Amino acid sequence: MCGVVAVLGRENASKLVIEGLKKLEYRGYDSAGIASIFQGSLQTIKSEGKLIKLIDKLENLSSDKSYFDTSIALGHTRWATHGNISVENAHPLISENKVAVVHNGIIENYLALKEQLIAEGYSFQSKTDTEVLPHLFSKYLKLGNNLLEAGRLVLNEIKGAFAFVAVSTDFPDQLFISRNSSPLAIGLGEDGNFVGSDAHSIDHLTKRIIYLEDGDHGLVETKNIQIFDKNTNKVDRKIINIQAEFGLITKAGYSHFMEKEIFEQPSVIPQTISNYLKEDSKIIIDIDKLGFEKKGSLVICAAGTSYYAAMVGKYWIEQIANIPVIIDLASEFRYRNPSIYGQNSILVISQSGESLDTLMALRHGKTLGLKTNAIVNVEGSTIDREADYSLYTKVGPEVGVASTKSFTSQLSVLFMIALALGKKFNEMNLQEINEKTQYLNMLPTAIARMLEIEEEIKLIANKIKNAKNMIFLGRGLLYPLALEGALKLKEISYIHAEGFAAGEMKHGPIALIEDDVPVIMFLVSDGNEDKSISNLQEAHSRGANTILISDKKCIEKADFAHLKLEIPEFESGFKSLLSPLLMSIPAQLLAYHVAKERGTDVDQPRNLAKSVTVE
Ligand code: GLU
Repeated sequence: MCGVVAVLGRENASKLVIEGLKKLEYRGYDSAGIASIFQGSLQTIKSEGKLIKLIDKLENLSSDKSYFDTSIALGHTRWATHGNISVENAHPLISENKVAVVHNGIIENYLALKEQLIAEGYSFQSKTDTEVLPHLFSKYLKLGNNLLEAGRLVLNEIKGAFAFVAVSTDFPDQLFISRNSSPLAIGLGEDGNFVGSDAHSIDHLTKRIIYLEDGDHGLVETKNIQIFDKNTNKVDRKIINIQAEFGLITKAGYSHFMEKEIFEQPSVIPQTISNYLKEDSKIIIDIDKLGFEKKGSLVICAAGTSYYAAMVGKYWIEQIANIPVIIDLASEFRYRNPSIYGQNSILVISQSGESLDTLMALRHGKTLGLKTNAIVNVEGSTIDREADYSLYTKVGPEVGVASTKSFTSQLSVLFMIALALGKKFNEMNLQEINEKTQYLNMLPTAIARMLEIEEEIKLIANKIKNAKNMIFLGRGLLYPLALEGALKLKEISYIHAEGFAAGEMKHGPIALIEDDVPVIMFLVSDGNEDKSISNLQEAHSRGANTILISDKKCIEKADFAHLKLEIPEFESGFKSLLSPLLMSIPAQLLAYHVAKERGTDVDQPRNLAKSVTVE
């Protein structure tokens, strides 16, 4: 989602800001802009669409040194929430040619503020909520306040979740910064200081990072920074030395980051597993910390793909540990007054650790007195810092907007949680637990073998690429996979797709079946396969183009299906219990190849963002 970068004290600041914005591109955005101060006046340049358009505009101005000969600049990639995608609505937003603001998030009370500012004579050039910020700064600066004082007065007026950076030509060597729920980091350099939405966006400038806490605001100068908490007490936030881990993220010869991330699963899932599985069979997840000193129930909250991981987690935890699990969409949990009767803890799942809905669910859980736990990929992210206990997926940066390796790594952690809970509460005998724990060691090779079916998937993708609608079906542990398969496909191919529990078709969705609509079923032989095969047959009889992705036994039983993709053979207990992990691979590859055939922007699909930092 939106990215903010600011550079202070370094020559060619605007070019350095563009470098930072490039590193935030993976988050998804729809327009971009940059502002700098040259000889006391503000220079702004903005464009709709990809960053390259802004870079082209800047290159056309390369002889005009006012855009480059500057040591203060701030830039933004916007993911529109209020106001359409246009140059006028792109950030930075300006007031009276003096104040420029870049902002991530939403100013919830902007309408009232806007009316008031218009009545006071300010004229608005955009339809954004953000534009109230520069005008409020102008107003308070004109009253004789310095930048810090003006910023505090602005903060007193606004409501919402945001992070922003403001500059004024009256204070050409200062940046005002503020963070409330949306992330913001400061980078400390030898000869300047920097601000970015994440550490990666400024790691070409410094490795010394401070993450602002919620409610923090402050002043950044070339040689000095001051940070204050929400009560305006001056605070020293911890300086973290980040490694160059993000330094060079390349596609490594693949066509897209998504493809690379699908194919690196056999090598990164062992990192996830080895973090918690020691000596081959000992899972070292602290169940007490997780809120299970004694048996209770658990609530898991997440959004999007992580929510489907939560669903699989529920099935595993209930089956293996006999612990009731309630799953909730993070965006619902906070607002629906949930009952927490019998619950001790909440577990949230987020790749970035910055998804605002998920962060808010975690905070809500905290206010309800629950122990808070998180499964995150990005260590040091807001959710990681705020959770009582974090479990890391450790799969390295995921750049493709459509989540792939994060999903399978989240599933791996959830499976380990289920086993650790099962062991603690003796829900299975030790031998059974040990046998299932060994499945983890079998997983990376099994995923590698599943990747070998890519060529067959390409054939299917080619046959269904022009479909207008698709249906995915699964039962039991593969029901969440049907939902995830449909989500993945719609995210990157823009084909309308829905996932259903196989047995639910006849209760309504079967009305959607018409000639040739692809109906894709994920299935493994687990003793219940006949029921699912009947469900597929029902769609087949009504003209659907039936596609079965399954093992040999089921394929033989469902010979009628139009397209049959046989997966490699695995030991039966392993295959049925870990079927969601195995079937993730065809679900991801199918979406990828359909999208590739259709020529969509696979890594940065329209309207989507990687790190969703608005509610
Ligand atoms: N709400 C602001 C807008 O629509 C900021 C969106 C963002 O976070 O990029 O311009």
